Amino acid sequence: MKAISTILRIFVPYKKRIVMRRKLVAGNWKMNQDTAGIKTFASELKSNLVDFDGRADMLICPPFVYLPLLQELFAGTAVAIGAQNVASEEKGAYTGEVSAAMLKDLALPYCIIGHSERRQYYHESDELLVKKIQLLFTNGIKPVFCCGEMLPEREAGNHFNIVQSQLEGALWNLPEEIMTTITIAYEPVWAIGTGVTATPAQAQEMHAFIRELIEKRFGSDVSANIRILYGGSVTPDNATELFSMADIDGGLVGGASLKAESFTKLINSCQ
Ligand code: PEP
Repeated sequence: MKAISTILRIFVPYKKRIVMRRKLVAGNWKMNQDTAGIKTFASELKSNLVDFDGRADMLICPPFVYLPLLQELFAGTAVAIGAQNVASEEKGAYTGEVSAAMLKDLALPYCIIGHSERRQYYHESDELLVKKIQLLFTNGIKPVFCCGEMLPEREAGNHFNIVQSQLEGALWNLPEEIMTTITIAYEPVWAIGTGVTATPAQAQEMHAFIRELIEKRFGSDVSANIRILYGGSVTPDNATELFSMADIDGGLVGGASLKAESFTKLINSCQ
């Protein structure tokens, strides 16, 4: 029985629906780059995009301090700029934090939340992520919600349960109007920054599982339209195959998004 559902998830797009989800390639720059590097990146990427055919949406999420610089350099282009994190409180005495209202003030369209590095090093819980999602929604910013299992969890065959509990913990009590603003990023932790990528079949299987869960909870309109990105050592060498899987709607990319040349190749990998 389990073997049959695995085969179905890999080879048959969930419910074979004809949907027009635009691909999104999102760069998570983490704590990397500086002013000089960003200027070089922007000038190279803009020249690579002179004849851009609009095949995918593009997003770059730099460290907070570089947001205005990136916005200025990419003004009037198809490259959107987003944040990597947001405070879980609205405003006030939270030294070092950046609020959703401040991100709105910069007119940012997206914000990554729940990245495994934040879950692991800053102990972010489902409850905290719910607060962040609500604040982002109030401020008109779309969350890119990360989920994914650690290596021992996959090795124990527990990866579906882990991802399901992350989704249920942070998203299941949201009203549909908030859920439809969310992009999911499935990022197996063992693949992030390791050079070990999930195979296209492994990624597709999990993406179809996620879409199936979302359909059960929120219905088929939401599940058919929600974008589910794959993240974890995506490179120009593996992107075409990953992004061609039926339920993979692009990527959340760390290392390979830092250079204009490889970012351009990732965009060109979208069909
Ligand atoms: C990430 O930071 O979300 C990520 C997937 O990193 P990398 O592409 O470097 O594995």
